[in-house]
Amino acid sequence: MIMTDNSFRFTIESQLKGSLARVGTIHTPHGAIQTPAFIVGATNATVKALTPDQVMGVGGQAVLANTYHLMLRPGADIIRSAGGIHKFMNWPGPVFTDSGGFQVFSLGMAYKKGIDLTSHSSKGDAKTAVHTSDQLAVLADDGVRFRSHLDGREIFMTPELSMELQHTIGADIHMAFDELTSPLAGEDYVALAMERTHRWAVRSLTRHKELNREHKKDNLPPQVLFGVVQGGRSENLRKSSAKFLSNLGFDGFGIGGIFEAGEIPNVLNWVNSILPENKPRHLLGMGSQPEDLFMGVEYGTDTFDCVAPTRQARNGTLYTYDGRINIKNSRFKGDFTPLDGSCSCYTCRNFSRAYIHHLFAAKEMLGATLASIHNEFFVVQTLESIRHSVLNGNFRQFKDQFLSRYHS
Ligand SMILES: [Zn+2]
Repeated sequence: MIMTDNSFRFTIESQLKGSLARVGTIHTPHGAIQTPAFIVGATNATVKALTPDQVMGVGGQAVLANTYHLMLRPGADIIRSAGGIHKFMNWPGPVFTDSGGFQVFSLGMAYKKGIDLTSHSSKGDAKTAVHTSDQLAVLADDGVRFRSHLDGREIFMTPELSMELQHTIGADIHMAFDELTSPLAGEDYVALAMERTHRWAVRSLTRHKELNREHKKDNLPPQVLFGVVQGGRSENLRKSSAKFLSNLGFDGFGIGGIFEAGEIPNVLNWVNSILPENKPRHLLGMGSQPEDLFMGVEYGTDTFDCVAPTRQARNGTLYTYDGRINIKNSRFKGDFTPLDGSCSCYTCRNFSRAYIHHLFAAKEMLGATLASIHNEFFVVQTLESIRHSVLNGNFRQFKDQFLSRYHS
C-alpha cells in the first residue's frame, strides 16, 4: 500500500434492495478498505501473536489500536518519535484508534468491579464520584479523572486530550471521546450521559480540526474523525443521538455502547436509518459471532472490530463453518484432519487438529499463532464473502445457508 492519495473518501458501489446493506470503499492516506470489512484488533499496536505479514495473510485490510492503552504504555510521544503508529508497528495499511473512552470507563473506573455508575449520580451535570477501595474516579462535564490500571497514576482525560493523543499516535481514523454507560443504567442516566457525549463530540471535533490545520502546515496527511452514537437501548435516545451527530460534520460514525447481539438489528436500524448515507459507519467492539456480522451488514454497518477472535484463539476456541470447537478437548488428540476442511487459511492448509491440540497441551506459543491466524481469517473472510453476496444480490440466501450450517 503506497501513499498515492491523501484524501479520505467513502464511495458506495452497491446497495442491497430492501435493506440498509451496502458495499463500498473507504479511501485513506494509507490505502483503501473494501467494505463491509473486519478491522483487526491491535490494542497495544500489535495484533496479538501475529506479525503484520500474517495479518495481511489473513486478508486484514486495517487495524484498530487503543488510545487508552498506548497513552499509558509506551506513551503517545514515543509513537510520534518513531514516526507515527504505522512505522512504529510496521503496519503500512489504514489504522483506526478508538477514543480511550471505553477503557477509561471499563478499566480505569469501576465498571467491571460491579459499581453501577448511576448509583452516585445526581441531577444535571453534577459530578459523579465512584469510589472503590483502591480507586477513585470522578466524572465531570469537563472530562474524567481516573487512575491508570497499570500503575495507579492519576490522569484527567478530556475530549481535547483524547484528540491530541490520537493525532500524536497518528492513526488515519479517530473516534470522538464518549461516555460509556453501564448496561444496567436507567434511561434517565443514559440520557444525561448521551447529552454529555454530544457536548464532548462538539469539543472533539473542534480540537480535531485545529490539529488537522497543524498537520497541513507540517505537510502530514490529514486524519479523520468519527462521531460516536450513544443512547443505550432506548429508541428515542439512539435516534436523537444519530440526528444530533449527523449535523456536526464528522467524516463517519462509530456506534458505541454495550448491548446484546439480539439488540443489534433494532439499535442499528434506528441509528443507520438516520445517519448520512454517504459516510462510513463502524460498529464498535462487536462482531465475534457470524450473526453479528450478517445483522450488522444487513442494518447498514460498514466496518466492525472485536478482539474476541484472537482472545478466544489463545484460549483454544476456534471458529469453524460448522460451529465452534475447543481444540484443547482430548477428542482432538489423534485427529489428523485440518481444523476446518472448508477453510483455506495457512493453518488449515498446513496443520492438523492433533498438532494444534498438542501445541496447546504443551503450552507452545505457536499454538496461539496458528489458532489466531485461523480465527482472524474466518472472520475477515466471512465479511469478504458477505461483501460478494451483496454485490451478487444473493445476500439472504448466503446468510441462511451459512447460519444453518454454522448451527447444525
Ligand atoms: Zn483455517
